Amino acid sequence: MSTLADPFDSDESFRDHFNAVDDDGNRNWFYPQKPSGAWHDRRVWFSVIALGILFAGPFLKLNGQPLFLFNILERKFIIFGLFIGPQDYWLFGLTMLSFMVFIVLFTTIFGRLWCGWACPQTVFMEMVFRKIEYAIEGDRAQQKSLDKAPWTTQKISKKVLKWSIFLFVSFLIGNLLIAYGIGVDELKKIITEPISEHVGLFSGVVIFTLIFYFNFAWLRDQACTVVCPYGRLQGVLLDKNSIVVAYDYKRGEPREKLRKGQDRTAGDCISCFQCVAVCPTGIDIRNGTQMECVNCTACIDACDTIMDKVGMDRGLIRYTSENAIANGIKKLITTRTVGYIVVLTLLWTVLGYLVITRTDTETTLLRAPGSSFIENPDGTISNLYTFKIFNKTNHEITPVMSIESPKGTLRFAGVPDLRLDAAGMSQGTVFVTIPKTALEGRKTNVKFAIKYGEETLETFETTFMAPQW
Ligand code: SF4
Ligand code: SF4
Repeated sequence: MSTLADPFDSDESFRDHFNAVDDDGNRNWFYPQKPSGAWHDRRVWFSVIALGILFAGPFLKLNGQPLFLFNILERKFIIFGLFIGPQDYWLFGLTMLSFMVFIVLFTTIFGRLWCGWACPQTVFMEMVFRKIEYAIEGDRAQQKSLDKAPWTTQKISKKVLKWSIFLFVSFLIGNLLIAYGIGVDELKKIITEPISEHVGLFSGVVIFTLIFYFNFAWLRDQACTVVCPYGRLQGVLLDKNSIVVAYDYKRGEPREKLRKGQDRTAGDCISCFQCVAVCPTGIDIRNGTQMECVNCTACIDACDTIMDKVGMDRGLIRYTSENAIANGIKKLITTRTVGYIVVLTLLWTVLGYLVITRTDTETTLLRAPGSSFIENPDGTISNLYTFKIFNKTNHEITPVMSIESPKGTLRFAGVPDLRLDAAGMSQGTVFVTIPKTALEGRKTNVKFAIKYGEETLETFETTFMAPQW
């Protein structure tokens, strides 16, 4: 009878516990060693550019409106100048769907490249907050001893300085987030006008500041390993051909300490644990690809430095795939990725069609319930309609409704207010009157237009009823 292997004895037993928490359930606070090396330098430059774009984003405008806006509460979004309002649910849904398929495709090929290089959490944590921490409290060893030390004046002043700067940077990020939500013009009002006039938005800035402070001062790696849904999806998104930060176990194993004067028969890993010391999520990449790895490249640099020192080739830890390590096969495009590319191409085609054919207004014109045609003494026929006009732009417009063909007149019930706020709506009732001679019979298709100045925003058709003749 075969016996099942004890999972806690297997090589995979490191997966049975969460390394950010100890056996008693207390937080394991990580003190990653200051990273340095070629990959880190590249990431620093990339982060400077990414942060520059991120902070400049709310100030960029196209035709007087922000280039990007993500107003979730009012369901108004502007992506590369394209306004997507509450009426554009198709556009919004397809944009979100194609964005998700793109993420799946990108992750399947390039693994967590986004996490390591461009995710705001990693960029702010590793390139801003961690740098401030290193500057004030020193490297790994100094930080550890400072935390263990009693609360002397020096420790208090270092901690207060660090937390104050953290709070200030969190405040900047909080303002940045609000600027992406409501636009810089509205944000300026909160800053320049009395707070009492913007209590809601000011509270938003305060709440986001505290959330970011909590995130970067305390939550840190756990934002990636516990909170982030993208991180937790890696198990299904990655496959053996995905490019990830990986340890070349074929070359590195069996690992063994380096001993002077000894003829080395072991693998290239000298068990120096430098790759573990620099890891911001506290894992050992030599255990294989793990959910906690954010592909920050710190272990690549650490290992390359060691390899240089001991005179071995760089790249024991590098960007590669499991298939490349195990079988020497580098395969970026697989059947799976081709499938995603086909789906994404279809989605983008439909999305492109919707964007090109999109009109600035969307009008529904329906015959009033229970109404019939009216025969007027002057030989004309009237139909009564109810209408709704939705403004799909991000600015106020006062459009005019007209009948294009056949020739006829419109008479609105009451004085309709066709002034439409940004993403607003107007509705009313209108009599459409057409000479009987211009009609085709019992049913005639009538074409309407919505115009704003000289510009025709939308045309649409409806059916006009007349007596049989
Ligand atoms: S840094 Fe390189 S040599 Fe040192 S333990 Fe990690 S993989 Fe092995
Ligand atoms: S294992 Fe390497 S790449 Fe992954 S998070 Fe740790 S240091 Fe970064």
